[in-house]
Amino acid sequence: MALTTLALDGDDTLWHSETHFAVTTERVLDLVRPWVDGDAATAHLLEVERKNLAVFGYGVKAFILSVIETVIEVSDGEVPAGRIHEVVGWAKELLDHPVELMDGVAETLDQLAGSYRLLLITKGDLLHQESKVARSGLADQFDAVEIVADKDTATYRRILDRHGIDPAEFVMAGNSVRSDVAPVVELGGWGVHVPFHLTWALEAHDGAGLADRVAVADGFAGLPAALDLLAARAAT
Ligand SMILES: [Mg+2]
Repeated sequence: MALTTLALDGDDTLWHSETHFAVTTERVLDLVRPWVDGDAATAHLLEVERKNLAVFGYGVKAFILSVIETVIEVSDGEVPAGRIHEVVGWAKELLDHPVELMDGVAETLDQLAGSYRLLLITKGDLLHQESKVARSGLADQFDAVEIVADKDTATYRRILDRHGIDPAEFVMAGNSVRSDVAPVVELGGWGVHVPFHLTWALEAHDGAGLADRVAVADGFAGLPAALDLLAARAAT
């Protein structure tokens, strides 16, 4: 079976995202330092985010609501309203941040467009993701752009059905094994993990049971080599 369709993740695969969240998280730790140390604040924020995921979903607005909840809780309600106002300002900064492409994206996409039908599958705030796709200047490279609330097997199955793609000829590439690779392999597809040095704790995955259907790319520019490896496996 030939691999015909390649889908790419957006955040931390095509463009930087986690780097900006990390800067904001440092500001949060500074803000709450009068009440808790950095480790306790980090753990509290992560727990609030985990608990809120099902109601708020992913993205900047969900993150900032969890930050506000955390700041109020760890300060026992003592945090001044002015500081909360500041936090809301951080959300606006995150949403307005210029889109910075990862190294090698533009050239590598040009190269891949000759061999694959390209899709972009990204999750998070609809408005923010639409704006990032537009500002990235990459939209024309893709046959379709899918902005989804979550990346689970049901989501991928829906996308594959809608575009009439057989999972056996489908590859998804991204920085998150949990969201970009594991569900696609579960459906009978293929995955390329493009690791980024920062991974949000809630995206952690040990990669167990995925080895045969997954290749690891050395940065975005390493994608063609990783895809060649999978194509050879798919052909046998
Ligand atoms: Mg990502």
